[in-house]
Amino acid sequence: MHEMALTQGIVDICLQHAGGQRISTVVIEIGTLSGVVPEAVEFCFSACSTETLAASARLEIRRIEAQGRCLDCSGVQPVERLYDPCRQCGSYALELLSGEEMRVVEIEVDD
Ligand SMILES: [Zn+2]
Repeated sequence: MHEMALTQGIVDICLQHAGGQRISTVVIEIGTLSGVVPEAVEFCFSACSTETLAASARLEIRRIEAQGRCLDCSGVQPVERLYDPCRQCGSYALELLSGEEMRVVEIEVDD
C-alpha cells in the first residue's frame, strides 16, 4: 500500500510547517489519475499522525480532475484515463496538465 509512505510524507510536511503548534485542519489535493485512493489516505493519515501534533487534525481531501492538452490540435480537455485519445481529433499525443498530483495545499493550526 503505497499510500502509507505518501501519507507519512504529508504528515511530515504538516508537522514541519506547524511550528510546534497543534494542527487543526489539513487540506490536500489528490489528482484523479494519481493512483492514490482517498479512503486509504484517510486511514493512513489517522495511523501516521497518532501521537503527533496532527493527531486531532481534520483531513479535507479535494479531488483534482485531470486535464490534458492535445499536442496536435491544442485542445484542453478532461482526461478520465491515462492514454485516452483526444476528444476532438483522436490524437494520442495528449500532454497531462494536472491530475497526477498529491499535495498539501493548506494547514491550519490552533492558536
Ligand atoms: Zn487533438
